[in-house]
Amino acid sequence: MNDINISILDKTYRAGHVDDRQHQAIADLELSVGRNEFVCLLGPSGCGKTTLLNMIAGLDSHYQGQIKIGSQAAAAKIGYVLQNPRLLPWRTVRQNIELVFQQAPPAELIDSLLTAMQLDDVQQVYPERLSVGMQRRVAIIRAFAINPDILLMDEPFVSLDAPSARQIRNLLYCLWQQRPHTVLFVSHDLREAIALADRLIFLSPPPMRIISDIPVTIDRGLRNDSSQIEAFRETLLNQHPAINGLL
Ligand code: ADP
Ligand code: MG
Repeated sequence: MNDINISILDKTYRAGHVDDRQHQAIADLELSVGRNEFVCLLGPSGCGKTTLLNMIAGLDSHYQGQIKIGSQAAAAKIGYVLQNPRLLPWRTVRQNIELVFQQAPPAELIDSLLTAMQLDDVQQVYPERLSVGMQRRVAIIRAFAINPDILLMDEPFVSLDAPSARQIRNLLYCLWQQRPHTVLFVSHDLREAIALADRLIFLSPPPMRIISDIPVTIDRGLRNDSSQIEAFRETLLNQHPAINGLL
């Protein structure tokens, strides 16, 4: 059963960032994501990944085509970890998390997520005192705390040092295993994508289209073994040379 069905005929920005010319970001993109599937989107900078996530999140409706989410009558809950954490500077860590709730925030769930992300000690602190890695963890908790059916993550580990990225990646993966949900994860790091995903989607420069759609066949129990990741990566790059020029 699919959880997300995307069929975009055209997404054009009327004026580009750099000049006033129209800019076609996406053309004829068809993509389906299964329930509880973990899909990584990979493609060059500026190819349209953030644009696509914004459209799925419902933040941008200026396009031709359709994005269908979920199959039940109830609207699917979408958690979105933006490329930039965007915490409110005048609210504490805990208040930043509680903001996403219209009704009483689920204190126990927030407590357990703060513990899982090792942020217990800083929950009453203001964001300016946090490292970038800590701010990203707060953003991840905020997305998780709503108990999402669909989680969108836009390069959540970019600009982190390798050990911090690995630590948060492991935490994310544990949370996903405890409470499975559909994930669309943008990455520029092929090793990270192989370690996390069920499926890798390689995207072209704009107008964005799918170049390759590749299942990751390494057993979940072996994803911590870097030699498995390396071997998969090498085979992938040999079999799909077009990917080399993308990342
Ligand atoms: P990615 O996330 O893959 O790096 P983006 O989705 O941010 O790419 O951008 C895709 C293309 O659309 C880029 O060429 C970018 O300059 C352009 N673009 C993104 N946002 C806007 C905007 N608000 N107005 C005009 N052009 C935009
Ligand atoms: Mg982006």
